[in-house]
Amino acid sequence: MSHAIEPKAGVLQIAPYQGGASSVPGVRDVVKLSSNENPAGPPEAARGVLRKVEHLLHRYPSTDHAELRRAIGEVHGLDPELIVCGAGSDELIHMLCTAYTGPGTEVIHTEHGFSMYRLSTLAAGATPICVPEHERKVDVDSILDAVNFRTRLVFVANPANPTGTMLGSNEVGRLAAELPENVLLVLDGAYAEYVDGYDGGAKLVQKRENVVMTRTFSKIYALGGLRVGWAYGPPHVIDVLNRVRGPFNLGTLQLAAAEAAVRDRDFVEKSRSENARMRTWMQKALAEIGVMSDTSTANFVLARFDSTEEAEACDDHLRREGLLVRRVGGYGLPNCLRITVGDEASCRRVVHAIAAFKGQEQ
Ligand SMILES: *Cc1c(COP(=O)(O)O)cnc(C)c1O
Repeated sequence: MSHAIEPKAGVLQIAPYQGGASSVPGVRDVVKLSSNENPAGPPEAARGVLRKVEHLLHRYPSTDHAELRRAIGEVHGLDPELIVCGAGSDELIHMLCTAYTGPGTEVIHTEHGFSMYRLSTLAAGATPICVPEHERKVDVDSILDAVNFRTRLVFVANPANPTGTMLGSNEVGRLAAELPENVLLVLDGAYAEYVDGYDGGAKLVQKRENVVMTRTFSKIYALGGLRVGWAYGPPHVIDVLNRVRGPFNLGTLQLAAAEAAVRDRDFVEKSRSENARMRTWMQKALAEIGVMSDTSTANFVLARFDSTEEAEACDDHLRREGLLVRRVGGYGLPNCLRITVGDEASCRRVVHAIAAFKGQEQ
């Protein structure tokens, strides 16, 4: 269908985003393991915030996010002046594409990379370039091989979604060093807090002019419904992001709840260790019934099946049992299912159901 009024090239190539399912018709006791949400729910301190800010809701929110940036800076040991906040890291990804790309330019993402990189690239009118991974792991050399004079951005999630694999700091450092100086490397650290001792790439940002890191409150902080993310980068990138950012892109409630959440370091510590415990258990239990997965560094496991048919049949079986996991055919992994690490009962339920599907008693 063609209209006289048309969006710019690329926009109609964007397929509407499919979120993780959250209900099954006719099934009451549904467990949602399809969107990598923290089963603990938000930190206590973030929950009571509406009452604290309700008297302010007729006012426009802060435009510089100074208090949230100060809190993030304190907790992560970073200069608040080099932080920009957005409506989820999705908005920051979008802002980076808007600011640095456009028709005639290219953006590199990897074979199983997060879908927003491609969508935001197309929305900006630029061309997404998909490069191969090696055994479900980002491959620095195939990224470098794809770079040319049109390249503006390279997106790498570390840990990656939906594979759960991670590149070591040597490899990430090599990528940053070998990219041409006019190409910006975006390190998406949505799952960084799940890796004990990992800074999401912050030190690399400090060392270089061509690296920016994005982070989110949607994963370990369990605030996906709130929409808050942030970026940390060199001064020239932060200046650019602040120019394209909407002046009121975050509301008062979002800012206050995220600030309370980031100050709760115990919550993050507990969530990280509980996730690691259940993730180890789940990977081992799945392996025992013949379902293999790469060692995950995030809060989900990418379970591999013998074929696409088996993965889809297993998903159908789980759905009938009220267990929602994520099909990842759209990420080039049609024989896999991505399963979020839930609480202990959910993990046991999903493994039990997969064992039954495989015809194995547990
Ligand atoms: C979940 C996720 C995000 C987070 O998006 P938000 O917009 O912050 O909710 C970003 N990148 C990756 C790779 C993710 O999996």
